Amino acid sequence: MLCRFCSCSTDNYKAPPDAPNWPRWRCKECSSIGYRSIPKESELSEIYQKAWNDSKTSRKGNFASGSTDDKISDSLIKLALKYAIEKSNFLDYGAGKGNLTKRFIHNGIKNVSAVEPFGPNPNLQNINWYKSIDLVPDEQNFNLIFMIEVIEHLTDPVEQLKKILNKLNHDGWLFITTPNTRGINAILNGEKWKESNNPTHINLFSYSGLSALLRKSGFKEIIRVRGTVNYKNSFLSSKFLSLTQLLQIDGGLRVLAR
Ligand SMILES: [Zn+2]
Repeated sequence: MLCRFCSCSTDNYKAPPDAPNWPRWRCKECSSIGYRSIPKESELSEIYQKAWNDSKTSRKGNFASGSTDDKISDSLIKLALKYAIEKSNFLDYGAGKGNLTKRFIHNGIKNVSAVEPFGPNPNLQNINWYKSIDLVPDEQNFNLIFMIEVIEHLTDPVEQLKKILNKLNHDGWLFITTPNTRGINAILNGEKWKESNNPTHINLFSYSGLSALLRKSGFKEIIRVRGTVNYKNSFLSSKFLSLTQLLQIDGGLRVLAR
């Protein structure tokens, strides 16, 4: 099996404990991780449903209810704003319940949109809500599109990224965050890494793997974002996190592309 992103050869990699029949590969070259065969939507929704039920009774399934808190959102917006031409026409792709879009409004962004295929429209004030990127009006383009911890969940990332590229303004940027297969947690934990044990993570990337995927999808310019994001409140752990972020070995990749 060849790497889906950089086409180099791969090794076998452990299946997630909650989906033992879904064997994975890991690229020898770019360290990306994927499934040997992409699970069907019906199989995936079973996994999401099980996780959702588990999360009500224990912490076990809490990968199903991920959301972005205000402090992380504000940090990400601050980072991305350095690259925005105008504080308007932002899209959150994979918006969940709309937490990040609410922070866009709070940070003074004009004309905010969200794409979220699951769940009902939360009817948030001043936010254009779409079930799919195909439903965004043709004349609407964006200065910044955010994909925060979303790309690892997509079964068809190339197809979605092509559509996203098509909705960017000439000088607009796509901002992606996703777990890092070359981050310190991945290195220290090996096949026990929490992110690869999460069965809803279809693909996991290193910076070079994510760059290969973006180029394949038509993106020409790719930047690894420096600067730090506040994930934790505790002083010591946030200092440690800042250091690993500066060394670019922290758990998360942050990339801009157009
Ligand atoms: Zn690869």
